[in-house]
Parts: sequence; C-alpha cells; structure tokens
Amino acid sequence: MATLKVENLHVSVEGKEILKGVNLIVNTGEIHAIMGPNGTGKSTLSQTIMGHPAYEVTEGHIYIDNQDLSEMSVDQRARAGLFLAMQYPSEIQGVTNAEFMRAAINARRPEDDQIGVMSFIEKLDEKREFLSMSEEMAERYLNEGFSGGEKKRNEILQMMMIEPKIAILDEIDSGLDIDALKVVSRGVNEMRSNEFGALMITHYQRLLDYIVPDFVHVMMGGKIVKTGGAELAKKLEAEGYAGLRDELGLNV
Ligand code: ADP
Ligand code: MG
Ligand code: MG
Repeated sequence: MATLKVENLHVSVEGKEILKGVNLIVNTGEIHAIMGPNGTGKSTLSQTIMGHPAYEVTEGHIYIDNQDLSEMSVDQRARAGLFLAMQYPSEIQGVTNAEFMRAAINARRPEDDQIGVMSFIEKLDEKREFLSMSEEMAERYLNEGFSGGEKKRNEILQMMMIEPKIAILDEIDSGLDIDALKVVSRGVNEMRSNEFGALMITHYQRLLDYIVPDFVHVMMGGKIVKTGGAELAKKLEAEGYAGLRDELGLNV
C-alpha cells in the first residue's frame, strides 16, 4: 500500500504561477484521471511530482507515504516507487532500451538482490510480447527514431518492467491509433492491482473507455475544479469544458 498526496500545491515556472493550490490523493489500487484544457498545468503537475528542476514549488507539499518529496532527488523519488511516463519522452543516444530498463530496475533494488541477466531477459520477453513489441526495439537506443506511438508503447513497457507503486501517465494516448491505444490500455489494465496506482492525464474521454478510472478530476486554471467518477468524463465529452465553466461559474 502506498499513497501519493499532493497538498495545496503551488508551482511556478520561470516566475509565473501555473499551479494554484492542487489537492489530490492517489492510493495504490486506484486509477485516477486528470482531464483539462491545454495549458492548464497538467504536465506541470506531473513534472513537479517527479522533481523536474524547472518547476518551483512555492507553496504546499507532495508526499509519498508521508515522506516529503521536496528534499528528494528524481532518483530517490523513483526508488520510493514513483514513475512518470512523459508526454514527450526524450531520445537518449548510446543507451539501449534494455540497458536503461535493467539499470532502472536495479536502482530500486538492494545491492544483494539485483536482477540477473537471465531473469531480466525472461521478464522483458514476456512484457514485450504482451505489448506486441518487436524484439529488436529492446536493443535500440532509448526512443531513438521511435515513432510517437512506439514511444508511448515503450513508456508502458518500462512501466511494466519497473513495476512502480504509483505511475503518472502524461497523455499516453496522444497520437495513438486505435490499435496502439488498445495495446497501451492493455498494459495499464494488466498492472491494475492493490499494489499499483495510477494518475492518468488525458485530453480525451476515449482512453477512459479502455481504462476505466475510479476517479476523474478536472483541472482548470491551475486547480482541480471538480472530482467525480468515470461518468464525469462522459459528461465532459458531451458538454465540453465550457459547460463546466458555466456550471461552476468559473472565469478561467
Ligand atoms: P498542460 O499539460 O495542461 O497542457 P502544461 O503544464 O504543459 O499544461 O503548461 C501549463 C503552462 O505552463 C503553459 O502556459 C506553459 O506554457 C507553461 N509551461 C509549462 N512548462 C514550461 C516550461 N518548462 N517552460 C516554460 N513554460 C512552461
Ligand atoms: Mg498540453
Ligand atoms: Mg501536458
């Protein structure tokens, strides 16, 4: 059991306040979705949770299991069980996908319990096949020359290999055709358990037909303005953010 807790979070980027008091609790066993218009701060929230240095926390706190993240490096956050699938995964030359994943897994394990080459390869083959990915992708440099869809699939492969406690998935559905969307969703659904929680950021309701969330949050103007169940996403799809703005009397 693990809990990610975001408390009155205010974040500035280049001196401009983007997040204006976000509150959120994600427990293992739960899938949360955050929806919201472009530019509202969804990626800012995900990058801040993971510890990207460009995002300055000016007020509030983020905790994992009551440990304050503010003093923790990106590596320490990963070791504590957090994982971020980025909206725009970076390409890294000179490190193969497989090497990257093995290092990431071992960084989270104690010295005397490192994953061996054989068990690593077995696990990799199993997950890769589950996601219908070619064997050759594992040996390519990280994300280099991958199409948008391949990058997203690869983020899910990493997640399945690393087995985080809480995964933040930033627009894993963007740019995917329907087949790739199904594969990516299959990966997330396969992870669903009492030991795994996710915060999925998406623009579109479509993803939530495949990964049915327990909670849906709407972010506007740097705050979560409404929380509901899966039905909230359907309502948004029908009425748009404008409908919600009117309903809540918001001016953002
Ligand atoms: P969303 O993911 O909801 O579309 P973002 O968090 O990406 O929104 O962006 C929110 C706002 O913060 C935007 O105005 C964006 O331009 C700004 N912003 C986010 N990240 C950066 C950054 N690294 N440098 C400068 N501005 C940024
Ligand atoms: Mg965006
Ligand atoms: Mg974004």
